[in-house]
Amino acid sequence: MSRAYVYDAGGLTMGDSEILEDTTRSTGREALKKNVQAAIALAGAIRSTLGPKGLDKLLIDDDGRTLVTNDGVTVLETAKVEHPVAKMIIGASSLQDKIAKDGTTSTVILASEMLRNAWELVVQGIHPAVIARGFRMAEQKVIEDITENAISGSEDLFKLAAISALSGKGHDSLKQTVSDLSLVAGNYVRNKNGKMEKEKIKIISQTGSVLEHSEVVQGLVLAKKRIDLSMPKEIIDGSIILIDGGLERRSFSSDMKLNVTTPGILEQFRNKEREMLMSQVEHLKNLGVNVVACKEGIDDDVKNELVKCGIQAFRRVAKSDLDLVSMSCGATVVNDVMSATESSIGMCLSSSNKMLGGLEHWVVTGDGCGATIIVRGSTVDIVGEVERCFDDCLGVVGQMYDDGRLLPGGGASYVALARSLRRFAETIPGREQLAIAAFADALEVIVRVLAENGGLDPIESLISVVAKQTSENSHLYGINLYNGEVEDMMANGVIEPLGIVKQAIIGATEASISILRIDDVLWAKQDIEIPEIPQ
Ligand code: ADP
Ligand code: MG
Repeated sequence: MSRAYVYDAGGLTMGDSEILEDTTRSTGREALKKNVQAAIALAGAIRSTLGPKGLDKLLIDDDGRTLVTNDGVTVLETAKVEHPVAKMIIGASSLQDKIAKDGTTSTVILASEMLRNAWELVVQGIHPAVIARGFRMAEQKVIEDITENAISGSEDLFKLAAISALSGKGHDSLKQTVSDLSLVAGNYVRNKNGKMEKEKIKIISQTGSVLEHSEVVQGLVLAKKRIDLSMPKEIIDGSIILIDGGLERRSFSSDMKLNVTTPGILEQFRNKEREMLMSQVEHLKNLGVNVVACKEGIDDDVKNELVKCGIQAFRRVAKSDLDLVSMSCGATVVNDVMSATESSIGMCLSSSNKMLGGLEHWVVTGDGCGATIIVRGSTVDIVGEVERCFDDCLGVVGQMYDDGRLLPGGGASYVALARSLRRFAETIPGREQLAIAAFADALEVIVRVLAENGGLDPIESLISVVAKQTSENSHLYGINLYNGEVEDMMANGVIEPLGIVKQAIIGATEASISILRIDDVLWAKQDIEIPEIPQ
């Protein structure tokens, strides 16, 4: 019960109105209604981006920077949303982004539709707890069905699914380039079990070129060149040391005076410093190091010594890049060269300098070195959006390499699940039956929104898909937005990984159930802000 808060403290009885003086409160139905409204408003903000015919949003941040995107989660995370329930749904979408990368817009649209339908049942007098139970039963059934409907994919289908993930995100040539390169990069970083280790893919960007010139390089690529051209260009079977500092004379960190009383003492001081640096180089030689990378500088006399020893060296390498090399080659980043031991040294197959896009790059290859995608485009904005496309596409490729099962897109899978759920609902005797049917209706929202964004009649499109699936007794039929026809989506290459659709439904169900369970919202009253008086 929501309104039983009367406290008896030693004979003093306080009503909740006194305790919650600084709080605005809405309870029961009122609270749920407001929460459902917030969810619907949130979904309303992004529903026009869903699908291949979805439109873009122009986002402008506090500093006036602009971003044009079609990605639901990017829109939601950039917008300043204050409403706590809206934030819960954004959380579900962000989780989808983290786990599956794709399907973020679908998650929000599904959650809001589930809540809208639940609200209608509440109005008819069904308790939210019963609805939540029905939703859980529906979710279980959907997970069983969806796995049955999935088809094992081949490389060809993977390619089509990668392209489908990019629908609405750009022109055909972008889709081809991004999907091809993502599949190649994904293949480079598959482990023994065939799973893709996405964290081993690095994306770097270069402006002033065209997207079609983007490429994948096997290994780790850093925008650095060796400090001296007489150092070896390529080292095979490299032993790498990573130094979180430099091989240089240090400048005094505090303001001090050196009182020179004896002639030559300054000379001795300099010699000592040089000696110390040379002993560091000697130590590196003894450890068998042939590649050096430091975060800070390398003095000229040290450089000459390194050249003499045939060591390849890089300076001013960012700490984050040192960490990447460390992860790839098994080297530990050392603070002090003299304390480095054999175990601090990392191994690589090759460490070379290559010209990529007219600039010199350091390329490290080896067992754990992964792959680097070099994204090229004319401007920073274009490269940024292409990077987001890669992010989505790599997520989908990762899903496919993890679990190769695929589903037909274009709303086909959602309609098939809804049809099966309705039959299942009939077998449930309690009031949960109504909730399961409401859940089924909610799943159909995806086809409706896809059709709406494609300029088609949403209801008619939905009815045609249901009719075709029933007459053909097949779950493969959905709406192909490129021609507006109801078609076999697998045959037409509109395909998505099982993991993405499944996670979207699970995420949306979780979010809607947790919102359904809230029957009391207490808002702390905000202080009234007094505007500053202009001088
Ligand atoms: P999300 O953020 O949810 O991934 P998208 O804007 O990427 O949203 O849209 C994905 C939806 O678009 C999926 O349901 C997918 O099946 C559908 N889709 C992709 N290509 C087509 C197509 N050619 N025809 C119809 N639907 C498509
Ligand atoms: Mg998508």
